[in-house]
Amino acid sequence: MAASEKATTDRTEAIGAEQPQRGATLPERAQVVVVGGGIIGTSVAYHLAHAGLRDVLLLERDRLTSGTTWHAAGLMATFGSTSQTSTELRIYTRDLYSRLEGETGLATGLRQCGLIELAIEPGRLEEYRRVSVFNRHCGVDVHEISPREVAELFPLARTDDVLAGFYIPDDGRVNPVDVTMSLARGARMQGVTIIEGVPVTGFLRDRATVTGVRTAQGDVAAEYVVNCAGMWARQLGALAGVSIPLQAAEHYYLLTEPIEEVDGSWPVLEDAASYGYYREEGGGLMLGMFEPVCAPWKVDGIPEDFSFGELPPDWDRMAPYLETTMSRVPITSRIGIRKFFCGPESFTPDLLPIVGEAPELRNYFVAAGLNSIGILTGGGIGRTIAHWITSGSPDIDVTAMNIDRLHPYQANPEYLATRTVESLGLVYSCHYPNRPAKAARGARLSPIHHRLVAQRACFRDVSGWEGADWYAPEGIEPEVGEQSWGRPPWFGYWESEHQAARTGVIAMDMSFMAKFSVQGRDAGAELERISANRVAGEAGKITYTQWLNEGGRLEADLTVTKLDDEQFWVVASDTAHRHAGTWMRRHFGDAHAFVTDVTSGYAQINIQGPRSRELMAAVTHADMSTGAFPFRAARLIDIGFARVLCIRITYLGELGYELHIPAEHAVHVYDRLVQAGQPLGLRHAGLKALASLRMEKGYRDYGHDIDNTDTVAEAGLGFAVALDKPGGFVGRDAVLAQKGNGPLRRRLVQVLLTDPKPLLFHAEVVSRNGRPAGYLRSASYGFTLGGAVGLAMIDADEPIDQKYLDAGNWTVQVGDAVYPAVASLRPLYDPASKRVQM
Ligand SMILES: Cc1cc2nc3c(=O)[nH]c(=O)nc-3n(C[C@H](O)[C@H](O)[C@H](O)COP(=O)(O)OP(=O)(O)OC[C@H]3O[C@@H](n4cnc5c(N)ncnc54)[C@H](O)[C@@H]3O)c2cc1C
Repeated sequence: MAASEKATTDRTEAIGAEQPQRGATLPERAQVVVVGGGIIGTSVAYHLAHAGLRDVLLLERDRLTSGTTWHAAGLMATFGSTSQTSTELRIYTRDLYSRLEGETGLATGLRQCGLIELAIEPGRLEEYRRVSVFNRHCGVDVHEISPREVAELFPLARTDDVLAGFYIPDDGRVNPVDVTMSLARGARMQGVTIIEGVPVTGFLRDRATVTGVRTAQGDVAAEYVVNCAGMWARQLGALAGVSIPLQAAEHYYLLTEPIEEVDGSWPVLEDAASYGYYREEGGGLMLGMFEPVCAPWKVDGIPEDFSFGELPPDWDRMAPYLETTMSRVPITSRIGIRKFFCGPESFTPDLLPIVGEAPELRNYFVAAGLNSIGILTGGGIGRTIAHWITSGSPDIDVTAMNIDRLHPYQANPEYLATRTVESLGLVYSCHYPNRPAKAARGARLSPIHHRLVAQRACFRDVSGWEGADWYAPEGIEPEVGEQSWGRPPWFGYWESEHQAARTGVIAMDMSFMAKFSVQGRDAGAELERISANRVAGEAGKITYTQWLNEGGRLEADLTVTKLDDEQFWVVASDTAHRHAGTWMRRHFGDAHAFVTDVTSGYAQINIQGPRSRELMAAVTHADMSTGAFPFRAARLIDIGFARVLCIRITYLGELGYELHIPAEHAVHVYDRLVQAGQPLGLRHAGLKALASLRMEKGYRDYGHDIDNTDTVAEAGLGFAVALDKPGGFVGRDAVLAQKGNGPLRRRLVQVLLTDPKPLLFHAEVVSRNGRPAGYLRSASYGFTLGGAVGLAMIDADEPIDQKYLDAGNWTVQVGDAVYPAVASLRPLYDPASKRVQM
């Protein structure tokens, strides 16, 4: 029997046992309405109920699982991610599915038969070795095994070219329909009402807060709504004015006739190099595929009546990939094919799920866009949403999956159609550190973009902007080149940009930074209220600050510049753009404080390095002497025919200035800077140099080395907190409470390898005296310090201070190799910040 038939049958049996109400009378209100009864919606409802919310209503358009869930292959893999969040979601989900039957009496079909990832190419072997170390640190039991052992576990696989297998005995497979039904029953046992056959057709709102849903059977008032409508989520979100950039794409698997040799106890096998995974199904094999170039489906909207649907397979397009996939298990090309199945699954622009409260509408949550791992992370996603709703904030790092990282233009059909083409294939591509996104490029350009092209910038996608990453010298093409884990061909160019910033002067285009003008009588007071630092003191001054939630965890890391009593300039990183904007608007409420997003109206060029003052003095009549223009000063200055907001601040640890230039003047100002910079040896520097420079100085980057799970003290940002400022600030009580708890046992620590050769990227495990203590949240190469350097959150069972760090023997594991390191709380580069104050 084909998997699809089996799934439908299983579903009917399960429904028979369960009987969610179909066409039942709608209640007039519920505390939470969950829209969509796939794996995600049922998991959200289940977890909301377990978190204590019993007044939960789940509305399903047709029948539970009728969207994408019914035909999923049900692979359960905890291995493979270098994100702690994703790994935790996977582990939690597997554990949940293993205990669910005990709670609900309905089997989930979980078979922990094991899973093997094959490494065929050296690059992937290196990737999996690196990932293994990190995944073990997170609690995944993964073993590197030989090709012979692979052949013993999956005898039909061709192993002549296999370099190694990575075997996770506790992973395996689950029945997606059964697990959804089990979650649904678990939810109902806790009081959740599930009604099938009721499509949500609209939303009710009061100003910027959702207040319920609309259906053909009437309205239901609700405090919270959670959009779990899978591939329909985008069009459903649009009804509420919420942008949800996801797109359905064709996704395939093939089922063979029964094969005598196949044993149901075999592990699942994945061979990304062959675009395929393989597992037993109905006595034969299932071959699932992730082809490198895929096909978006129904870009203009998913049909409302598409239920338990299949798509006609595109044999011509798939044939070459299929041949490669079959070659890993050669018997499959000799045996009959029972079914070539194609179904739609949702993909997002960055291959990460869309989870969290919509920036456009308060209390409107979204959990969709699962990029083909909705089953294996579904439990964790449901738990996260439930925690977020019941406590007001998530308890895991959500910076990479928060809906507010995405921008409305990314929901444009043409953008999604273009971008999605590479999404599916990226799941199985080797995850090299400098792998660029290729599709849908050129969406957002800095006003000086063409000038940077002329300077031979190599660009990368920075939240949709073309960000100059590094510059090729004359005669060299600015191409990323072959991907590897070693030093890239442009390592030397990167180094000279880095050194130029330390010894001379550089220009860096940072126009992608999020910029807000905040104005009004209450602007200062409101910004003071949400900022941990004192931001509304002297006019003409920039302040580095964090915004905290009531629990004292970091919500934003940014600068606030006071221009005058009623005018402020707030600058955040590109990834925090919408989060920062939303945070202000929601906190300011009806106060006389108005937030205008001026990102598009201003270019930002940073002039940095010990000779930056000389350059600035050459382009302006303003007095740039340190007495007249000290560190942290912000002034409107003249450059050529333009007026520019010049702020003396640095994110790379040198004397430097950030110039905010009206977009129409940007080219003119840039040309003046370049002209005046020539005699000073001005270099263009890109984001690679920014990363290595800031990392040497230990400057934090929100969403990379600090996130919403950290406190200011743990992140080493206590110096930026004004505990004594009048009126306090949001999160102050929590900061004080942590202070009262005594010395910290969890702290962000700078880690430098003493061997100059190895590179560090992210997620390498850091040990003290041979015992894992944390992992590098981000890393780069410290050309001035002479080795790879990163920031790691370290946990200990005793207080962490420099004495503790000095007393330990620190190492970092990179794949199979272990390298000695030094660990420091103060930045290893210019700890007293003398260069910044020059
Ligand atoms: C071929 C294939 C193989 C896969 N294999 C795996 C795998 O091995 N492992 C894995 O983890 N994932 C796998 N996936 C991915 C997985 O199936 C999805 O990520 C997951 O099912 C998504 O669940 P969902 O609840 O978000 O969406 P859906 O299952 O589509 O649920 C959304 C629900 O919302 C309902 N709905 C829509 N609009 C409305 C409305 N207006 N009102 C009320 N209800 C509405 C729909 O009817 C639907 O039931 C696979 C996908 C495909 C296509």
